[in-house]
Amino acid sequence: MNNTDSPAFHYVGGELHCESTPLAQIASQWGTPTYVYSRSAILAAYQRYVAALTGRKAMVCYAMKANSNLGVLSLLARAGSGFDIVSGGELARALAAGADPSRIVFSGVGKSAADMRSALQAGIACFNVESAAELDRLDQVARGLQRRAPVSLRINPDVDAKTHPYISTGLRSNKFGIPAAEALAIYRHAASLPGIAVVGIDCHIGSQITSVAPYIEAAERVLDLVDALAAAGIPLRHIDLGGGLGIRYRDETAPAVDELIGALLACMDSRGHGDKTLVLEPGRSIVGNAGVLLSRVEVLKPGVEKNFAVIDAAMNDLLRPALYDAWMDLWPVQPRGGVGRVYDVVGPVCESADWLARERALDIAEGDLLAILSAGAYAMSMASNYNSRGRPAEIIVDGTRAHLVRAREPVAELFSGEALLPP
Ligand SMILES: *Cc1c(COP(=O)(O)O)cnc(C)c1O
Repeated sequence: MNNTDSPAFHYVGGELHCESTPLAQIASQWGTPTYVYSRSAILAAYQRYVAALTGRKAMVCYAMKANSNLGVLSLLARAGSGFDIVSGGELARALAAGADPSRIVFSGVGKSAADMRSALQAGIACFNVESAAELDRLDQVARGLQRRAPVSLRINPDVDAKTHPYISTGLRSNKFGIPAAEALAIYRHAASLPGIAVVGIDCHIGSQITSVAPYIEAAERVLDLVDALAAAGIPLRHIDLGGGLGIRYRDETAPAVDELIGALLACMDSRGHGDKTLVLEPGRSIVGNAGVLLSRVEVLKPGVEKNFAVIDAAMNDLLRPALYDAWMDLWPVQPRGGVGRVYDVVGPVCESADWLARERALDIAEGDLLAILSAGAYAMSMASNYNSRGRPAEIIVDGTRAHLVRAREPVAELFSGEALLPP
């Protein structure tokens, strides 16, 4: 069962702990369902990137859509991390968490003029522009503010990241980026616009990538363009190769951070671009294995075909299984040690897609606590209020201390902005 890369979560005396704090203690203090993150696991994952980039011009921009809790962001901001944002909402969160705007890059296919304005006023490092239309809109907005927007064009390198289709982003058929064949012309246009300052180039080919090869393939195509641009008199300062490094949920073997970065730097060096700043945008690999979703068994429903364990967490709290058919490990917080039964672990939401784990052998009783592992990324940040369920609380554990970094969402807040129709 111990096959998940989550050293921060381990059993001590028959009790699952996060760092030195028993999860049962968190459940009794704050209830369930609750997300629990390890401070040291998040920092260690971030430091692996920093260490692999030592001595190089580089910027690590945590892709905050993976987990945008202010506690998590403040921890990373204090450690010196930059941020990759995808909306005006994320910009506001990053700034509220103490992020340095000069270390923020702004990605996304549909930036509104209002979002562009806020980001320009904040003084972000770069807009990762995904279309010619976006470039012209950004030029207009920047000129209106009498500024020049720092820009990189996001290239779609048409490489197969060999991941789930919903999280593959670097194929020609995906909505993301500018085809490499059109890039030179759009860069030329960008260089002619008074509201635009061309500073870099970027790509992001997908998520949960488990080999180095597609990264190198993408990097080679991006570097071809860097060469072509230099020849056209458009020099670039930075090369942003996105995020996407996979983590172990079950038995996946993703490359280590230093292996990936070593290969990327070697590729840049061999092409004569070792002097450029390397920007990376890791999300999942920073927070994914640093969190669990803590939940309690509500009822057991033994059946002819299947046994169901209905728990108090559901697809609205953790969408990955329903959305991506994702397998996530599930550990009892206080294991009973018996054989038990095989269960489908489901939530109380009225959808058959509302499952969290299928066909797991568990020795459990009603009221027992379960931890769903590797739930630090694309988990709480994707939670919704479907079925009028308030979203879970969030806790960051630091040794023996547990900090509430988001209170459980009260039901009254769910409809506080709504109104009865006048009679
Ligand atoms: C989501 C995203 C990332 C982060 O991807 P991970 O797989 O979480 O590392 C980085 N860059 C962009 C543009 C993204 O959309």
